[in-house]
Amino acid sequence: MSHPIEDISLDGGWLCLDFANTVSGRLPEKGEEYLRSWSDFAAWVRRLGVLPEAEFRIWEKMPPGDMEEVRALREAIFALFDYQAKNGAIHPGHLETLNDFLHEVYIYTRICQTANGLRRGMIDEPHVEKPLWIIALSAESLLLGDRLSRVKACDNCGWLFLDTSKNGARRWCNMLTCGSQTKAKAWYHRKRA
Ligand SMILES: [Zn+2]
Repeated sequence: MSHPIEDISLDGGWLCLDFANTVSGRLPEKGEEYLRSWSDFAAWVRRLGVLPEAEFRIWEKMPPGDMEEVRALREAIFALFDYQAKNGAIHPGHLETLNDFLHEVYIYTRICQTANGLRRGMIDEPHVEKPLWIIALSAESLLLGDRLSRVKACDNCGWLFLDTSKNGARRWCNMLTCGSQTKAKAWYHRKRA
């Protein structure tokens, strides 16, 4: 059974976390792959609005990039934030792949003035890897910002999400899917007991 990338839930609350969640689940092991081809990746990029629409139309006509690289960045982001969610700390070994990407990204970025103050922004020219750079920068801002401790891994499926709840006690990527499943299981086990 395979699901199109268009149907995948967006529960991450942060671009790089939604990117990490492009497999059907992480528990008990990595689930079904949603990014099977470059066109899957392009559909995801469009859905998440990673590039402005006009730029996206130019970008999607470019020759496809390397899916190995796409998945390598995704798995690096997953390992990094999953470890953080479970241990409250970053494993130094997990920074390597992201740093390699950022090393490349920084050549194409500039400090720009925006309505919200000074920001690191991407050059305007299209480039086949640009969405990956934007995702890598999204991981960087999450790592260096003040919300890192709010990155969680879903108790039920292992997807990553940013917990924006008031008390910071959210346990599931999605209350309706994973939350109710976990509750149903607990109810079932209580009844059996
Ligand atoms: Zn979940």
